Amino acid sequence: MTVLAVAEHRRGEVRDVSFELVTAGRRLADDLGTDLSLLVVGGDVDGFAEDLNRDGVDTIYTVDEGEEFNHGVYTQAIEQLHAELDPTALVTPNSVNALDYAPAVAESLDIPLVTDVIDFEADGTVEVTREQYGGKVETTYDVDADQYAITIRPAEWPKAEETGDAAIEAFDADIDADLGTTVNGFEEVGGGDVDITEADVLVSIGRGIEEEENLPLVEELADALGATLSSSRPIVDNGWLPKNRQVGQSGKVVTPDIYIAIGISGAVQHVAGMKGADTIVAINTDPNAPIYDIADYGIVDDLFEVVPELIEEFGGEAPDI
Ligand SMILES: Cc1cc2nc3c(=O)[nH]c(=O)nc-3n(C[C@H](O)[C@H](O)[C@H](O)COP(=O)(O)OP(=O)(O)OC[C@H]3O[C@@H](n4cnc5c(N)ncnc54)[C@H](O)[C@@H]3O)c2cc1C
Repeated sequence: MTVLAVAEHRRGEVRDVSFELVTAGRRLADDLGTDLSLLVVGGDVDGFAEDLNRDGVDTIYTVDEGEEFNHGVYTQAIEQLHAELDPTALVTPNSVNALDYAPAVAESLDIPLVTDVIDFEADGTVEVTREQYGGKVETTYDVDADQYAITIRPAEWPKAEETGDAAIEAFDADIDADLGTTVNGFEEVGGGDVDITEADVLVSIGRGIEEEENLPLVEELADALGATLSSSRPIVDNGWLPKNRQVGQSGKVVTPDIYIAIGISGAVQHVAGMKGADTIVAINTDPNAPIYDIADYGIVDDLFEVVPELIEEFGGEAPDI
């Protein structure tokens, strides 16, 4: 018996969510009294397996086919390993890639799939928790099946850090060469090569900035702090920053050490993307703004007064705006 978790990598690196998957998968395996197996498909599988060898993983299966994600390769590899291991649970990240292959695999294996799971409890069957209505309501479902698949929301479980002693096995999947899809390369939507999910410090700006002409102020603060600039959705909707900078439910889920929310109210759809930050600092004129419910530190003041002072404090020069 095992729990089978599918790791994810991009541009030659194991993604953080894969280490969160180890933590979630181990907990599920413990609840069920089973082993935890990981599968990694494509790219530098041996290097990835070495990285993924974290405490709690029993076996890492590698399928050395292709480089980046390909729907046909993943579905075939997972289905064949599933047939071999007969796992109780198939666990994947709730990522763009997994939301591509997991429904197809679940359909093909005739097992139920629950997506975007934020918590679970297993005791024979499994009970999973999801959010609804933009995070306002949590709903718990009983999954009444012997075998099932779940996708876990990124940033809900801590990353597994300790090195483990998993067995690493090459799995000889029989991949049909006629995949139906080919991968021509990788291009980040929204332009630029900034990945805000990898940043340690984020300076994030919201509608409080008022006008695009005022953006250099927060860009200067980000520079002075060695931080990356991100934003709430209205800034992206206005076309002031590209989509790859948006934090939130329909943007990216970020887990920086420090998140500085400037002129951001803290709507649930925004908070869904940044509540996993270690330390949250808010600058907002409204003392009742919801962002203060989750902020560790707050400055209730006008950002046009506070940000220039912070820039100066950290050795930068506030622009004239
Ligand atoms: C389906 C759906 C998905 C969504 N997805 C996302 C998402 O992924 N990410 C996201 O961010 N939003 C998302 N939204 C939008 C979300 O509901 C909010 O509208 C949005 O987050 C508000 O952005 P904001 O905080 O920048 O603006 P506002 O809510 O307008 O807040 C601006 C804040 O700035 C403060 N302020 C104003 N002037 C100053 C000043 N001079 N100094 C300091 N503070 C000042 C105000 O007090 C206020 O709190 C989504 C909505 C829907 C319906």
